[in-house]
Amino acid sequence: MITQEKYRSKAKKLLAEGSVKMVIGYSPGSTPDRRRPVFIRSFDEADQLVLDSNCIANLSGYLVSEGLLSDEKHVAIFLRPDGIRSINILAAESQLNVDQIIIFGFDTNGNEVRALTGEHAGEFSEFIGSIKEHPPEKSRDPLLYQIEQMNPQERFAFWKDEFSRCIKCYACRQACPMCYCRRCIVDSNQPQWINTSSHTLGNFEWNVVRAFHLAGRCVGCGNCDRACPVNIPLRLINSRMAEEVLDSFDHFAGLNPAQEPVLASFKKDDSETFIL
Ligand code: SF4
Ligand code: SF4
Repeated sequence: MITQEKYRSKAKKLLAEGSVKMVIGYSPGSTPDRRRPVFIRSFDEADQLVLDSNCIANLSGYLVSEGLLSDEKHVAIFLRPDGIRSINILAAESQLNVDQIIIFGFDTNGNEVRALTGEHAGEFSEFIGSIKEHPPEKSRDPLLYQIEQMNPQERFAFWKDEFSRCIKCYACRQACPMCYCRRCIVDSNQPQWINTSSHTLGNFEWNVVRAFHLAGRCVGCGNCDRACPVNIPLRLINSRMAEEVLDSFDHFAGLNPAQEPVLASFKKDDSETFIL
């Protein structure tokens, strides 16, 4: 069982002794099956923390987007394995310092995942490595198999139809821990790289450009998918890109904080098939 009480006690202890300035976790949401992020700053507030199978959002993005680590104090945060992977990617991309973070790890089965940072990074890498070797079958969406059976024209029509519903709200970007650019390409208007009006051409550009920016960086947390108000199955694109990167470059994103970003590094024996 998930150790809600254990982590509550741990949060209280860390806050009481001043070891962390904040604990980022989950509190009850607007319906019984929803959880919302909560930012706990004192011993008394820690009783708001809940931990169960409804805690699905990847909270790691708050560490970067809200600048919570800028004063070099420590922050504790509840994370599932996908969230721990994104912490590693953010560290590898110099967006945060893992030594400032205390991880309250948990998995979807309700088991505790040890808070693995600093000197425990090796064990953490081993744990994440086991996910790479034995990905849960349910993580591959059945729709992916259907899309793979389509010919290129059918596949293009499928995505054209899906993207036609995009309203350019950018909720997917805001919810994604890996979308941390201060100024997104879509916000640039001199020059304007992507048409921002909500028509098919601009929608396609936006979603495809975002997919490429996430290639080799997406951890499959599903934050983007859940945030999309028109239910575009963004997870399908990002998880397919992750598979492609694993096949082509043997790169599984977020194994450890020292892992080089796949599209910012190269190996001497890379195939270079795109040139030949
Ligand atoms: S693209 Fe979506 S699934 Fe991938 S890391 Fe970002 S929010 Fe998570
Ligand atoms: S969240 Fe959905 S509707 Fe909003 S920009 Fe992203 S894909 Fe488009």
